[in-house]
Amino acid sequence: MKIGFVGAGVGTLHAALLLTKRYPEVEITIFEKESRPGGRLASVDFETGGRIDQGPTIVLMPGKLQEQLTEAGLEGVELERIDPLYDLHFDDGTIVTKQADVVDQTVAIERQFGEGRGFQEFMQQKAKDYDVSVSKFLERTYFRKRDLLQPDMLAPLVKMHALETAHDHLKRYFKSKYLRMAYSFPTFYIGGNPYTTPSIYGLIPYREQEEGVWYVKGGYFSLAERMYEELVRRGVRFEFNQPVERVMIREGQAKGVLVNGQEHLYDTVVLNGEFPLMEYLVEGKQPKKYVPSGGTLLLYFKIKGKVDLPVHRFLMPSDLQPLMTSIFKKDELPEHPAVYLFNPSKVDDTLTEVDDSVVYALVPSPRGFDRDRYEAHGFIDRILAKIEQHLPGFQSKVTEMKIRTPQDAQDFGLYEGGSFGIAPTIRQSAALKTQAKPYADIERLYAVGASVHPCGGVPIVMMGATLLVNRMEQEMRWKNGYSDERISGM
Ligand SMILES: Cc1cc2nc3c(=O)[nH]c(=O)nc-3n(C[C@H](O)[C@H](O)[C@H](O)COP(=O)(O)OP(=O)(O)OC[C@H]3O[C@@H](n4cnc5c(N)ncnc54)[C@H](O)[C@@H]3O)c2cc1C
Repeated sequence: MKIGFVGAGVGTLHAALLLTKRYPEVEITIFEKESRPGGRLASVDFETGGRIDQGPTIVLMPGKLQEQLTEAGLEGVELERIDPLYDLHFDDGTIVTKQADVVDQTVAIERQFGEGRGFQEFMQQKAKDYDVSVSKFLERTYFRKRDLLQPDMLAPLVKMHALETAHDHLKRYFKSKYLRMAYSFPTFYIGGNPYTTPSIYGLIPYREQEEGVWYVKGGYFSLAERMYEELVRRGVRFEFNQPVERVMIREGQAKGVLVNGQEHLYDTVVLNGEFPLMEYLVEGKQPKKYVPSGGTLLLYFKIKGKVDLPVHRFLMPSDLQPLMTSIFKKDELPEHPAVYLFNPSKVDDTLTEVDDSVVYALVPSPRGFDRDRYEAHGFIDRILAKIEQHLPGFQSKVTEMKIRTPQDAQDFGLYEGGSFGIAPTIRQSAALKTQAKPYADIERLYAVGASVHPCGGVPIVMMGATLLVNRMEQEMRWKNGYSDERISGM
């Protein structure tokens, strides 16, 4: 049995680990257009030494992450709990800190806002909603769009008020505008606007509070490196600098891929690049239009010495809505931007020389901006000034700075420059989203990744990889004993 993968993102890496663990005899080849595995899970390497995560930094759902790594047979990935999770510094001076311990957090919210009870109710209700969501939405695959219309699917959605927006839903629990912002802005972790994204995605901040925020020792990028090494050890072939030009379809079945004008034949093909762009490769398919997720401007700093920052800090405007309207609706740079600061050197001394630090700043931004467009508006200088105002002396410690724009993301292959795959809208969720088997009329062609059900975020893409492998097993009857004759006879 030969399987060809298009792209070496975390979706592919986890699917390949699961497949080789369950079926060591399977032959896997992974074609990757870049010279390294991991996709968005990558490092930025400074010329003066030192590395920092390029993309993901916040480990959510650590339990699921570890469970899935164990299932795939990957040992030795260490996670560290970050406590407090992070703090939010609003422009008007209000500070909201999220404690890892839920009881401590209840007490803190009661003291600061007199809303401990609302927080408790939020946590209790969301615990129930989360359990339902995992079984009904996250850990299941859909065969047709109308699956979503079954009463056992619709009833929980209605009960959870899942179609209210993430931000407005919180009015049921919190009076304080700061708490509403603090517990809805994490929809942006998957590129969603909290003022339009359905509240089912508002379970992210609940889960974050429940399980905490964790850090992969060595950086999130080191996870991709570990997965790659293990796959090589298991005999998986990686073909780097090999962009797939076409997926060949014959008589309703995927037959292989075209790379450098050469045909490579496989029994099964899996697409892992951004799905809306992968559609351009599939013979006979008309690509559809999707709503892309939000963009980000990223600044990476090598710092002389240490900085007075926790691992995660958010500098927030006093009102988040105008910022979200600017970037999602008007395609304009916000007047009052938000800046997420990540300081892994606080807990990890393997990233740079012991006395130095590496820091990254992520700024939610409209898509389509390149360096020149930012510079024309003086936007990067404004962000640097905002950081400097927050942390006086910061700029004088910077020895190197690297920049990544939404245009860079688009050039890399992220759909329309959105950082997080397609946007989490109703029409792009659950049964309405591309599934592990994307086309009813094409056999042996599968998909995995941030733009495929369930959604983006490393642990969730890994859950998608599990759904993919389970679906492949169902369709190929591997569960009843794998054999080439059996499959070729199907
Ligand atoms: C700035 C940023 C911050 C983020 N923060 C977090 C976070 O804190 N926590 C979290 O959990 N998640 C975060 N994410 C999201 C997370 O990184 C993604 O959801 C996840 O890594 C996507 O994995 P994927 O499997 O979709 O593959 P991708 O990372 O999209 O990789 C796909 C691969 O396919 C390759 N490819 C594309 N086309 C072709 C072709 N034609 N031929 C060959 N190869 C091809 C690409 O080069 C790429 O390597 C963040 C993402 C970004 C960008």
